[in-house]
Amino acid sequence: MGAPSPPRAWAEIDLSALRHNLEVAREISSCAVMAVVKAGAYGHELETVARTLAQADVAFFGVANVGEARRIADAGVTTRIYLLGATWADERAEIVARGWTPCLSSLDEARDFDQLAQAANVRLKVHLAVDTGMGRGGFVADDLPHQMPQLEALDGIEIEGLGSHLPSADEDETFTREQFTRFTNLAQALGGRDRFKWIHLSNSAGLLGYPSSPCNLVRPGLMLYGISPLPKFQDKLKNVMSLKSRVTLIRELPAGHGVSYGRTFITQRPTRVATIGIGYGDGYPRHLSGQGAEVWIKGHRHPLLGRVTMDQIMIDVTDHADIEVGDEVEVFGPHLRVDEVAAKAGTIAWEILTGITPRVVRVHH
Ligand code: PLP
Repeated sequence: MGAPSPPRAWAEIDLSALRHNLEVAREISSCAVMAVVKAGAYGHELETVARTLAQADVAFFGVANVGEARRIADAGVTTRIYLLGATWADERAEIVARGWTPCLSSLDEARDFDQLAQAANVRLKVHLAVDTGMGRGGFVADDLPHQMPQLEALDGIEIEGLGSHLPSADEDETFTREQFTRFTNLAQALGGRDRFKWIHLSNSAGLLGYPSSPCNLVRPGLMLYGISPLPKFQDKLKNVMSLKSRVTLIRELPAGHGVSYGRTFITQRPTRVATIGIGYGDGYPRHLSGQGAEVWIKGHRHPLLGRVTMDQIMIDVTDHADIEVGDEVEVFGPHLRVDEVAAKAGTIAWEILTGITPRVVRVHH
């Protein structure tokens, strides 16, 4: 057997930048942090990110489901785990046994957790999710005050927190300010910090763009990974993931030659074309085809030619004779941010980061 084939594409992940961005979140919000690490820590590898941030004393890890919670706990990380989404009934006994913290959206769920906790002879800490505008989960805001007495009567659960979520903190300031007011009023009507140990509303955009009151916990995801959803504060964050590849071939094509599937690009001049070892099979979006996308090599940007294929892309290096086979390519990173790439693909940085496929080797340093 020969030596293993080196990866054509890899992601370099800078853990000191991750720690730096956590400190920025703490400093700006003056709140404790629930680090949102769902979807494999936004593609940065769940266990490694969880171990790194646990050492920096985050209050909670926010995950989407029990599978992600298990991975963190099984990696030996003892930081509290918060389930951001709804849970299945058959997952709840494990949640109780492992002491993970669910956010509740209904009395039925609360009663179920209560019974399981009482049967296990424990008191499970839970948070109440309240819907102040997201329309995805949580108690309906106007109903919650009427349901509080029934929730408070359940001895197996300890209502430790109150949380809500912002649907448009990076898009609609007027709505978001109203939502902060609505949430603040509701939290106060229910007893505020005297009643709840943790009150939380903000994702990255919320904590960067709005005052934290009445909250004492924030739930940043994207900004930990170096991208600000608001242009404000981008310069305070450090790039965490650099998606890289290499030039695998360089060829001279005559004018009038098609490049890639569908021949949507035809060379207008004799063109030096570099082929790069990354494609949509790695999570580099095919929607970038024909959208003016670029990659970064040896200090310059170089335009993508034609369509993105599964494993390879082609770029124009006609005016850069110094580029050679084997040269390192930054597909996104400090010189070409992932949110710029996402915008060209008609999507958002969250989707690109979480869509980097397992074929891309993650290298942490
Ligand atoms: N809170 C909840 C409930 C979420 O669903 C998410 C992510 O989608 C976050 C916080 C983190 O959001 P962001 O990555 O925008 O900081």
